[in-house]
Amino acid sequence: MEHRHHALTQEVLRTDVAGMPLEWIDYKVAATLYHSDQVAYTCGSPIFTIRGGFNARTGRRSVLQINSIIATRGDTHALERSRGRYTPPLNNRTLFRRDGNLCMYCGGLFRTSELTRDHITPLSRGGGDVWTNVVTACRRCNNHKGGRTPEQAGLELIAVPFTPTYAEYIYLKGRRVLADQMEYLLTHFPRSSPLHARVRGDLERAGRDWRNVVTLAH
Ligand SMILES: [Zn+2]
Repeated sequence: MEHRHHALTQEVLRTDVAGMPLEWIDYKVAATLYHSDQVAYTCGSPIFTIRGGFNARTGRRSVLQINSIIATRGDTHALERSRGRYTPPLNNRTLFRRDGNLCMYCGGLFRTSELTRDHITPLSRGGGDVWTNVVTACRRCNNHKGGRTPEQAGLELIAVPFTPTYAEYIYLKGRRVLADQMEYLLTHFPRSSPLHARVRGDLERAGRDWRNVVTLAH
């Protein structure tokens, strides 16, 4: 086993045969998909080279190249997700990523460990635990707000909270997103996606080299 450019923790972006992003997989799962002939085509760039055993008859060694993006056959859930009915599960990690680790009240940039989930309309006042009613908030702002609405607390949101689409959710879940994977995901974001500007900025900072990792986690 040998890897070319990346640590083995680098994840591969798996899509369905129509190119809709599905999930992040590790190199072992990717290798299994290649071996079971489920890879329809590849995009992106080769990130791993796996050397297998020697063929007893020919004496040649098998070599498998794994790309950063692979399209696979036969996922029937993809269509459903792409039709816009999908609501990704809400969790703090992706919520904080959605908001760029910024407190949506004071605008400060914080480490993930310093952030909280704020319910804009508090649960005690009938607000839901849903993407459009939650924002990232620093402890200070969250404590100050307490069980009040932003108006009652004299606070103003710096951005409108939104429910990520499936492609946006995959992007937000990525631990280590390569530039080519990011560009690929970006083409599947809705035109109106509030993430466009941030992703473009990250890509510019990463440069044109596909080997560059575009990191977001703080
Ligand atoms: Zn704050």
